[in-house]
Amino acid sequence: MNSAQSPGDGTRAVRAGLPEPVKHEPTLPGPVFAAHFHLPGEPTGPYTYGRDSNPTWTLLERAIGELEAPGVPVETVTFASGMAAISAVLFSQLRTGDAVVLPSDGYQALPLVREQLEAYGIEVRTAPTREDRQLSVLDGARLLWIESPSNPGLDVCDIRRLTEAAHRAGALVAVDNTLATPLGQRPLELGADFSVASDTKGLTGHGDLLLGHVSCRNADLAEGVRRWRKVVGAIPGPMEAWLAHRSLATLQLRIERSCANALALARALSERGEVGGLRYPGLPTDPSYPMASLQMKRYGGIVSFVLPDRAHAERFLDALRLVDDATSFGGVRSSAERRGRWGGDAVPEGFVRLSAGAEDTEDLVADVLRALDEAVDEPATRPLR
Ligand SMILES: *Cc1c(COP(=O)(O)O)cnc(C)c1O
Repeated sequence: MNSAQSPGDGTRAVRAGLPEPVKHEPTLPGPVFAAHFHLPGEPTGPYTYGRDSNPTWTLLERAIGELEAPGVPVETVTFASGMAAISAVLFSQLRTGDAVVLPSDGYQALPLVREQLEAYGIEVRTAPTREDRQLSVLDGARLLWIESPSNPGLDVCDIRRLTEAAHRAGALVAVDNTLATPLGQRPLELGADFSVASDTKGLTGHGDLLLGHVSCRNADLAEGVRRWRKVVGAIPGPMEAWLAHRSLATLQLRIERSCANALALARALSERGEVGGLRYPGLPTDPSYPMASLQMKRYGGIVSFVLPDRAHAERFLDALRLVDDATSFGGVRSSAERRGRWGGDAVPEGFVRLSAGAEDTEDLVADVLRALDEAVDEPATRPLR
């Protein structure tokens, strides 16, 4: 431990949300599978019906809260997916006639959310994450939605500055903290009202479940989000919640390795002539670095770059052996994809988003460099393998 007052991230991660030790009980109680709980007499909580509450969620929510806001009372509500968490904030807070500011370069499902918000008579404004451009459209807004670093462009904005401006304008602020995880950045400490994430990614980190959460300090805001979960029923399964809690114990180890691997890859990629548009917020030459180094504790495990064209990028992905060609990110196994194949992001055809996993750094860098070498050749001249 660093000191009695402030244990380090690894220490907090391994103990996050654990109940007080009880003789003959496990350290982390197993998942509680229950649609309903014994409930004679007055129907009072904490556990009544499985859509409202579950002891496995309670422990996970406490754990995530301890990471999002160490030493500070905070409420966390866990959801079936990141989108369920995002929708819960937007749809519980916004009303017909309100205006909301979204990033124009955020997660690829945000345009779908926008359509839905507009169908309910909510005005949606967008601006890019870079250079705090969302500041220019805040006037009269009810809520500002920030995604920093943005996915997949890895731009970073000044969360504290935007939050202060939004609060002055009377707007609430939510930050999608998926890329950073609470060990990389703590939006509530930067002033945000909501820290929201897809825990499908780095927080749980094994690519085997979908989950999301919302954390906030204000009990009324939390109540609105919890009520929305009850209404929509976007609840996590007890097994997913338990797996997520189990995965938190290794969060610091996983994130440290993945950040170190991402930085090593970014350095290696920066030496390559065929690689353009390289982005990693932790690379001192990156446009995001000055701000990221002030507000982030760790820079995340994602590197993005552009290969000359679609075919070149496909040859590269095909030649990788330690990196799966798959969507999503933040897992212990490295993955990469040609983001343009989805059609949702404004990126060049050769744009690759690479998520660095927990492999040994030398192995991962060597695999990526070898795949780049192989991808230079046209298929006809490449030996079959
Ligand atoms: C993946 C992702 C989401 C959506 O999360 P799901 O768990 O897939 O619903 C939202 N925001 C960001 C930044 C993401 O990367």
